[in-house]
Amino acid sequence: MSVLVIAEHDNHQLKAATLKTIAAARKISSDIHVLVAGHQCGAVAEAAAKAAGVTKVRVADGEALAHQLAENMGTLIAGIAKEYEAVLAPATTAGKNYLPRAAALCDMAMVSDIVAVESADTFVRPIYAGNVLATVKSSDAVKFVTVRTTAFDADDSNSGSAAIEAVAAVADSGKSRFISAEMAKYDRPELTAARVVVSGGRALASADNFKSVLTPLADKLGAALGASRAAVDAGYAPNDYQVGQTGKVVAPDIYFAIGISGAIQHLAGMSSSKVIVAINKDEEAPIFQVADYGIVGDLFTIVPELEKAL
Ligand SMILES: Cc1cc2nc3c(=O)[nH]c(=O)nc-3n(C[C@H](O)[C@H](O)[C@H](O)COP(=O)(O)OP(=O)(O)OC[C@H]3O[C@@H](n4cnc5c(N)ncnc54)[C@H](O)[C@@H]3O)c2cc1C
Repeated sequence: MSVLVIAEHDNHQLKAATLKTIAAARKISSDIHVLVAGHQCGAVAEAAAKAAGVTKVRVADGEALAHQLAENMGTLIAGIAKEYEAVLAPATTAGKNYLPRAAALCDMAMVSDIVAVESADTFVRPIYAGNVLATVKSSDAVKFVTVRTTAFDADDSNSGSAAIEAVAAVADSGKSRFISAEMAKYDRPELTAARVVVSGGRALASADNFKSVLTPLADKLGAALGASRAAVDAGYAPNDYQVGQTGKVVAPDIYFAIGISGAIQHLAGMSSSKVIVAINKDEEAPIFQVADYGIVGDLFTIVPELEKAL
């Protein structure tokens, strides 16, 4: 049977998270359909049709789907889910919002945030802030699965040529309403997609220090900026910089943890990074247990020296 992947997009562009979710879906079936639900989202459907491994793109185009409100998305997905053996969405803010609703409408279970596919009905997912990997098997007729996108490699060869067909868009549920979106705009790479991440913690001690100490290093490396929750809570960094269990999950090639102790909730968001560099004045700091390279010392001396040396 086929697998349905729900596309992540902004009505104009298909997001990379979709390709990674398709990579997970290909481990379940070779017949992959993609649902593009939105408004005036034809360009997204075209892009999805080119994605490697996709056999069909289904487009639900309607005003009620313009902002992918969970109530409307849930109803739409539940209406077609039973044609599939599995429905997959990226474990992003949007996917985590609508997919459990669709699963509940079909009276089936959710399997959330998977990092591996063992077989068509068996998946691996982190629990206890990533300290334990649970292997779970679902006996439901349709598996509703969100995918941790950092765990799967996208095939961006654009080698597909899937057919595109329309599906009926749903009417507005009237239960929620889109009011406005404030999109943060940064002139540096997006945190979850960056090759290099420079993250700062409580030790930066102020928003001014956070900016003046970390930005030159991040600029040199073409890196995204991240932060611990302590740094975010103290107002040193914006909320959407937060890495960890209750923040973003990142897996860059290089992750700099600067003045970050390495609490398990922080590790949950970055321990899959390929190379971890820690700078901390306390040689006993837990971050050194996961670091590939560690520098013990005062970040206010080391970071400028490192930046100069690059
Ligand atoms: C339910 C729950 C969810 C959570 N979710 C998250 C999450 O998503 N992300 C997250 O990050 N945290 C999260 N936390 C908080 C987490 O437990 C820690 O409190 C937090 O990560 C600590 O941040 P920190 O490392 O910046 O601060 P601290 O733990 O205070 O560490 C600061 C570090 O800086 C070092 N230091 C101090 N001065 C210097 C200096 N001059 N030079 C070099 N090093 C210096 C210190 O030695 C210390 O190791 C969560 C907690 C809970 C309970």
